[in-house]
Amino acid sequence: MRSSRIRFALLAVVAIMVGLFVLLPTSHQLRRQQLLLGTVVEIVAFGPDLDILEEAVSAAFSEIARIEHLMSPHIAESDVARLSAATEPFAVAPETAEVLALGLRVAKASRGGFDMTLGRLKQLWAIGSSAPHIPTPAEISVALTGVGPDALTLNGQIVTKKNSHLAVDLGAIAKGYAIDRAALLLRQRGIKHASVNAGGDIVLLGGKSSKERWLIGIQDPLEPDKTVAALKLADRAVVTSGDYERFFERNGVRYHHIFDPASGFPGRRSRSVTIVADSAALADALATAAFVLGPEAGLALLSDFPATEGLIIDPAGEFHLTPGMSTLLSWH
Ligand code: ADP
Ligand code: MG
Repeated sequence: MRSSRIRFALLAVVAIMVGLFVLLPTSHQLRRQQLLLGTVVEIVAFGPDLDILEEAVSAAFSEIARIEHLMSPHIAESDVARLSAATEPFAVAPETAEVLALGLRVAKASRGGFDMTLGRLKQLWAIGSSAPHIPTPAEISVALTGVGPDALTLNGQIVTKKNSHLAVDLGAIAKGYAIDRAALLLRQRGIKHASVNAGGDIVLLGGKSSKERWLIGIQDPLEPDKTVAALKLADRAVVTSGDYERFFERNGVRYHHIFDPASGFPGRRSRSVTIVADSAALADALATAAFVLGPEAGLALLSDFPATEGLIIDPAGEFHLTPGMSTLLSWH
């Protein structure tokens, strides 16, 4: 009598467990990496169906590669390479036009702190190459001839350069745009929880789960292996620009890859800038712009763009942040 009751209870427990297993979709995690955009791009996606995750993540990588083919200056047939070589008004793809339009907004709002016409200056310094070079004032003045927020005009998809020798460089915005597109593609395929991370430029779809937000560390610019703080975020993009990402040193001076268009030299007003926004393209452009402008003008720039937050670490190691940023941060 007693044993049959126990057996019944056991059976009931098993039945409930089987029922739960069938009713609750188990969540799979898929993590994939590819070398794209000059960095390691990692996509992490969660969902009940592994086949759908695999297909969506591989489509997202293809989309990033497609954007890279439009916007890399190193690919001869890219829009950017052909626009840089163009001597006449030039028609670009709708995606390139979208990036240029956003970049021009940031260029104007930052009064030229953000500048997509620094291609010649970038080639001159060759930072990140095996033979970087500290240019002479004469070389810098040639490279900066004609650059500025009015140097490009966009009419639909037609781009006109004020000076035909100008070389276009979307290095401070295209990576953000590419990961925005990848996230859009994942969303269109029904993925609700995912992150797309291109060397620290990150787009987040939803939270890590329906209950948790994602935890994103902010690197210490002096010791990039360590973090100074963490951000708790869902459905947002977060991008950091720092002087420790690509640089060379000579006579104890660090020469890095974010240029102040006013001097033609690496910007000296910031050490790192982290921007949170709804799109990674905007966050990317604003991070570079605020880096060049420095704490005061950099945070003022953010007030021109709704729903953006920022943290700027200055050369003395002081932190400057928007009020909204402090609500997202926990300090280490
Ligand atoms: P990362 O490439 O490390 O993500 P950024 O987004 O700050 O960093 O972009 C730096 C790149 O942007 C440089 O390598 C160069 O191609 C370009 N760049 C440098 N200075 C500027 C500037 N003042 N405005 C716009 N683009 C810039
Ligand atoms: Mg940038």
